[in-house]
Amino acid sequence: MTPPFADPETGAAVKAADRAHVFHSWSAQGLIDPLPVAGAEGAYFWDYDGNRYLDFTSGLVFTNIGYQHPVVVAAIQEQAAKLVTFAPAFALEARSEAARLIAERTPGDLDKIFFTNGGAEAVENAVRLARLHTGRPKVLSAYRSYHGATSAAINLTGDPRRWPSDSGSAGVVHFWAPFLYRSPFHSETEEQERDRALQHLEDTIVFEGPQTVAAIVLETVPGTAGIMVPPPGYLAGVREICDRYGIVFVLDEVMAGFGRTGSWFAAERFDVIPDLLTFAKGVNSGYVPLGGVAISEEIAATFATRPYPGGLTYSGHPLACAAAVATIRVMEDEGVVEHAAALGEKVIGPGVRELAERHPSVGEVRGLGAFWAVELVRDRETREPLVPYNAAGEANAPMAAFAAACKKSGLWPFVNMNRTHVVPACNITEAEAKEGLALLDAALAVADEHT
Ligand code: PMP
Repeated sequence: MTPPFADPETGAAVKAADRAHVFHSWSAQGLIDPLPVAGAEGAYFWDYDGNRYLDFTSGLVFTNIGYQHPVVVAAIQEQAAKLVTFAPAFALEARSEAARLIAERTPGDLDKIFFTNGGAEAVENAVRLARLHTGRPKVLSAYRSYHGATSAAINLTGDPRRWPSDSGSAGVVHFWAPFLYRSPFHSETEEQERDRALQHLEDTIVFEGPQTVAAIVLETVPGTAGIMVPPPGYLAGVREICDRYGIVFVLDEVMAGFGRTGSWFAAERFDVIPDLLTFAKGVNSGYVPLGGVAISEEIAATFATRPYPGGLTYSGHPLACAAAVATIRVMEDEGVVEHAAALGEKVIGPGVRELAERHPSVGEVRGLGAFWAVELVRDRETREPLVPYNAAGEANAPMAAFAAACKKSGLWPFVNMNRTHVVPACNITEAEAKEGLALLDAALAVADEHT
């Protein structure tokens, strides 16, 4: 595949307009230098200078079927010609079909779908559903988490980006979820970590007053905060605690859902059924903004004769839903979910483990499916991260040098704190994945210099 054109002049104009008028997310506006992107296809994108990049980020972990899939692009075009938009209070073909296809794939009886425009709105509405259903005010979430950047969602989020918004939403309580490599409980085994984390969660609930706790919100596999695969039995234990105290269990699968972990939803991999499940990103590979909450029969029944006091102008937008219907069919027809599982087991997993053996800067690798983290350290013994922990926003020279080396070689890496995540499109070919791992291998030599 070659870029269709190289057009540095247009690239420069795009960049100048961006710098003049676009206010970017998560950034000090004067310190960023966004790459002007000319096009994308499959697992690759290219800039206006004609440089091609293998995308190991899937955008922000959302293009699960890669860029510009012709079937989905055609479905969006067809829907645009037929009925490009319509208000939410009507029954629409694309919306009801998307809801049916999603409900069929979510675990258990999560059969009613409330549509949003993205992940944060899904989390906001899950919290509201849980508070209204239980009549309780508090919501618990993990310190190592990311749930979105709107009011409740950013407060649920544990990572340092929450700090500037702190106290924006009352009734949010954080707890420690398990993570053996940097154990908050100083555990030595997965079993210890699981048991201590469950005890800590239950203690937190008891001290907060179970009758005040509406929901526990957890990412099934926390993504942005480091792809921390939970130890066996942890999520089942959380389910039990929720049942014991009448708490709504919300699994946030905005990142982990729709094939990313090698099953339709990660909940399946851990044999657990939440009461509410949030999704976005992979539902239509982000071709048109869409998210939602899958709701259990019991919670849906609360709103059978009492109105749900919430809604969004573009809830279940026809274009987004048509893209979801096409995406789900593509995933089914092309076996994308099974492919992601095989990538994890046969290519990416073994590949990153092998990198860990050879590179002193690799402290740990972990993940499943097309969802892996490579954690970089100065010292493998002390596990001192390659950047100071919680150093969001600070100068980050070794990781910046590592990222620059990746980009120079044609690999676009997902770098966050002291980690690089290997999160390509779930339908990336084995050869493409191996190509990316080889480029990562070369760039890790730069990180090794800082050990
Ligand atoms: N929850 C999780 C688990 C996420 O990973 C994200 C986005 N990275 C969100 C919620 C927020 O989604 P959005 O950016 O679409 O609002």
